[in-house]
Amino acid sequence: MSALAGNYKRKKLSFVKGKGSFLETARGTKYLDFVQGIAVNSLGHSNKKLIKSINKQSKKLWHVSNAFIIPEGEKLANRLVKKTFADSVIFQNSGAEATEAAIKVARRYFFSIGKPNKNRIICIKNSFHGRTLAAIYASGSKKMTQGFGPKVPGFDHFEFGDHKKLKKLINKNTAAIMIETIMGEGGIKVIPNWCIKEIRKLCNKHQILLILDEVQCGIGRTGKFFAFEHAGVKPDIVPIAKGIGGGFPIGAVLMTKKIAKAMVPGTHGSTFGGNPLAMSVGNAVLDQINNNLLKNVNLMSDYFFLKLNQIKTKYPNIIKEVRGVGLLIGIQLFNDQSFFIKKLMDNKLLTIRAAENVIRILPPLNVKKKEINLALKIIDKVCKEVN
Ligand SMILES: *Cc1c(COP(=O)(O)O)cnc(C)c1O
Repeated sequence: MSALAGNYKRKKLSFVKGKGSFLETARGTKYLDFVQGIAVNSLGHSNKKLIKSINKQSKKLWHVSNAFIIPEGEKLANRLVKKTFADSVIFQNSGAEATEAAIKVARRYFFSIGKPNKNRIICIKNSFHGRTLAAIYASGSKKMTQGFGPKVPGFDHFEFGDHKKLKKLINKNTAAIMIETIMGEGGIKVIPNWCIKEIRKLCNKHQILLILDEVQCGIGRTGKFFAFEHAGVKPDIVPIAKGIGGGFPIGAVLMTKKIAKAMVPGTHGSTFGGNPLAMSVGNAVLDQINNNLLKNVNLMSDYFFLKLNQIKTKYPNIIKEVRGVGLLIGIQLFNDQSFFIKKLMDNKLLTIRAAENVIRILPPLNVKKKEINLALKIIDKVCKEVN
């Protein structure tokens, strides 16, 4: 029996190494990894430049605490600010911490301008913002909150797409609307661009903040640096994590200067957040999230969607919908997807589930066409077998 607690149902499979889009077991069996640590390894396994940067930094300095200036963090924050809507960054170590920090900065902003009662956050029911106490109650998911004691107050929920309810929920105590630009765990549900624009307008009208959780869909995953760029809106606060670390745990919350002003010394902190080792990796990841890489995401995405839709047409009783943006792809089946995912795995293709019978496909952003072709071949084969 494992000494690890049973909070995960793990596959009976483990790996000793990885390279690019592939993972390898101790026996030398190779798997095409289209999970990539759940959209974390944006540049695939064993990326040469990441290895070089972490090796180099590991010989110099790992950790000093935020009591001192950390040049690598100053640099990464500066680059994120230059690239995006944001003026200011707080580094964390994970997605949940980043969304938690997003909630805190939104509330603290209103506190700082003398409106402490403006502290409620509106979220989508059954969304995913991580597993801290605040984040699970933000998700409004019964499954995630059951058994974890008194409800963390301050969150209101509307169903995906229910704008009427959303408008009804806004009142004088609302501080922010917090949504995933694309719902990842929730089943790769893309919030339409017009809808994100409407929500931005609502926020402006009621002078509340827009928090877009880009922990999964950000950092190039959709073919733009942030998924919200497709809608042409500017959010106020954006938590990020997963892809920015390329496999190293990094989280961050990005915000405008108006909000950052509220985060005076002592308001928030993290012992590990933004340490030199993490920041050197973050910088090396960012070096490679360039226009060429984004072009690859878009090209590979167009090809993948075209071919997946052809497979859908071939097996109309199995595949209900192919959805997503860029390389954040969901194949929704008519039936439970677990068996299908197992079959893909038996054929050496790794994918991961999401809600609503969705098979999530998350290749590295530098994926090659021949790797997509291999995945397509396996998906087609499994469709034929289960048909
Ligand atoms: C994964 C995820 C989180 C939580 O990230 P952790 O690093 O697991 O804490 C939060 N929000 C979204 C949208 C995510 O996909």
